[in-house]
Amino acid sequence: MTPAIAPTVAPTIAIVGRPNVGKSTLFNRLVGRRSALVDDRPGVTRDWREGEGSLGPARFRVIDTAGLEDAGGDSLEARMQGQTDAALDEADLVLMVVDGRAGLTPLDRYFGDWLRRRDRPVCLVVNKAEGMAGEAGIVEAYELGLGEPVAISAQHGEGLSELYDAVVEALPAALNDDDDADQNEAATGPLKLAIIGRPNVGKSTLVNRLVGSERVLTGPEAGITRDAITVPWRWRDRDVELVDTAGMRKRTRVAGALERMSVADSLRTIRSSHVVALVVDATRPMEKQDFTIASLVIDQGRALVIVANKWDLVEHKDIVARQIREQLEAALTQVRGVAVKPISAVAGSGIDKMMDAVFAAREVWQRRVPTAALNRWIEDVLAYHPPPLDKGRRVKIRYLTQVSSRPPTFALFVNRPNSLKESYRRYLANGLRNDFDLPGTPIRLVARGGKNPYVKR
Ligand code: GDP
Ligand code: GDP
Repeated sequence: MTPAIAPTVAPTIAIVGRPNVGKSTLFNRLVGRRSALVDDRPGVTRDWREGEGSLGPARFRVIDTAGLEDAGGDSLEARMQGQTDAALDEADLVLMVVDGRAGLTPLDRYFGDWLRRRDRPVCLVVNKAEGMAGEAGIVEAYELGLGEPVAISAQHGEGLSELYDAVVEALPAALNDDDDADQNEAATGPLKLAIIGRPNVGKSTLVNRLVGSERVLTGPEAGITRDAITVPWRWRDRDVELVDTAGMRKRTRVAGALERMSVADSLRTIRSSHVVALVVDATRPMEKQDFTIASLVIDQGRALVIVANKWDLVEHKDIVARQIREQLEAALTQVRGVAVKPISAVAGSGIDKMMDAVFAAREVWQRRVPTAALNRWIEDVLAYHPPPLDKGRRVKIRYLTQVSSRPPTFALFVNRPNSLKESYRRYLANGLRNDFDLPGTPIRLVARGGKNPYVKR
């Protein structure tokens, strides 16, 4: 991986508050590792710690300021201020934590007062509020004058979606979800390509055309490993790995021994690839098996390109091209806009366009749509075509965000996720595909409730 882009400064969150309110526990939950020493005794955790934190799709740097008693000398107030001052200098957002079970202590009030006069956005967090335990503490917390408190249980992972909302509202930069490093690596790393299709459509001829016969003949022996076999090669200075294909194996085995891939073989191959090129024979009508393979690719969340081979033999090229596309789109609404590339593996024509389509498919497959754009979009959609009522009750859609790519996966926050009709979910998925230009790739859209959608695994 080449770091083409200088590392960006991540937005920073500081966790502050008096000892024993659960700062370290919250830190651990955000950072996702349990390295800190957390104990019932106040002040067991000492050093200022920091780490890469996340809440759902939000990413940030977190500073934990736990462990103030250990600094000798001044009063606790003074030491808290000193420590917090340093953290505040680096923080874009402060999470002030209080203990919902203990209620506000004089130290909380003193500290809140001081914090209120600093020009840093503060989000007030009432911790230990699992179940009903923190109720009194939540009401009391308003007295700090730091705005509406967010009730959570750092220990039990409750209230994290409310915390997420608060964090993202105060710190939209946390949602600048272009994971540069990750994206770069994915975009420039080898593209894993599988070439699959029914027997005799021309897969081995195509593989030979792509990587050269020598490579295929010296390729890895089939059958010695259950993992996918890959053959590295380059296409116009870009790295490609060809994932285990029937065509390659045919050469290494006794002729006729392998007439078709088993479903298990196909699945393994598909799962190991980014893009699957499904080769079909353009001189024959598409068959059920072609569609079966295509659906397998979509189910596995892989990008798909259709390669119509033996184009040299096709007489009425326009008609055949249209037929293939129509058949595909009728059978597979999930990949509307999938690329169909005519080639002749024998003559070597159409290969460049095919490979362009393969790289383009991967680009779409791993694209990230910014959250702000998604929410502008969903607002428009809602104004124009709101979700149908569920048993007479309104279905409230609050928020839309892309939670992952490869393939593009979106989470829709709904008051009651089960109330979202399947037809409406599909309507939104298709809308996303059209409006954000995501052709030929599976799109996943999941409805989530307001409660704890971001419980950490
Ligand atoms: P810190 O001193 O502010 O960093 O607090 P710690 O994270 O060390 O937590 C202090 C104590 O509170 C520990 O015993 C934790 O297990 C406990 N604690 C932290 N979060 C919660 C919570 O959400 N609920 C309950 N019941 N206890 C918690
Ligand atoms: P596989 O079983 O999918 O690997 O198919 P093969 O690569 O073994 O090809 C099957 C037959 O189709 C062979 O006779 C090839 O020569 C022929 N074939 C493959 N590609 C083309 C092509 O682009 N045009 C023509 N006319 N024949 C092709």
